[in-house]
Amino acid sequence: MREANQIVAETLSMLQTIIEAGITTWDLDRVAEDKCLKMKAIPAFKGYRGFPGSLCVSINEEVVHGIPSRKRKLKKGDIVSIDFGVLFRGFFGDSAVTLPVGGVKEDVARLLIVTKESLEKGIAQAIVGNRVADISKAIQAHVEENGFSVVKQFVGHGIGSSLHEAPEIPNFYQGERTSRLLPGMVLAIEPMVNMGTHKVKVLRDGWTVITNDKKPSAHFEHSVAITEMGPMVLSSREN
Ligand code: MG
Ligand code: MG
Repeated sequence: MREANQIVAETLSMLQTIIEAGITTWDLDRVAEDKCLKMKAIPAFKGYRGFPGSLCVSINEEVVHGIPSRKRKLKKGDIVSIDFGVLFRGFFGDSAVTLPVGGVKEDVARLLIVTKESLEKGIAQAIVGNRVADISKAIQAHVEENGFSVVKQFVGHGIGSSLHEAPEIPNFYQGERTSRLLPGMVLAIEPMVNMGTHKVKVLRDGWTVITNDKKPSAHFEHSVAITEMGPMVLSSREN
């Protein structure tokens, strides 16, 4: 699973170096798919319940599951979330990052920082003996202390020989009665954080999730193994 996730991580790092105003989300999808196939991995999202791309690319008020398009160009001041998954030797990797395109407004920059920090706070709770609720609580507390909101309609997940496995990893607290974390579990922890309302809706394309108030949203994700030595971030990147 580390190998699958490192293919994802390398792809995201590469995309980070080419993201700039003028590039289309289709171009990003092509680069991700080529890189993945070169490393003998299979893009996990393409064809998943009919999703047409290899990469989910979500801009500004788009939360997750944006469809790559030749018509969609990145502009200066946008934020773009790129979510990538692969299947390699029978196991899945899944990770996401949200990046600024050129300079962004101060509140938007803060949204990115807080979302990334909330992922780190969630990961810190991914320890043997804790429950899923401990991860959820840590993420929600950090986000709300900073005046933002967590998306409730979409959640993180277990990952392994399937892309999405039990347990669900919500980014909000729903009571203590959640799975105990055991060594060997791998969790895709993925806070989706909105600047305004937590409410979201799916566009008529059947995929793209946007915020109800059209304010921006950020998404960071890592696949994390629960081990006796603590959380191991399988999709870790240098940048
Ligand atoms: Mg993902
Ligand atoms: Mg995921």
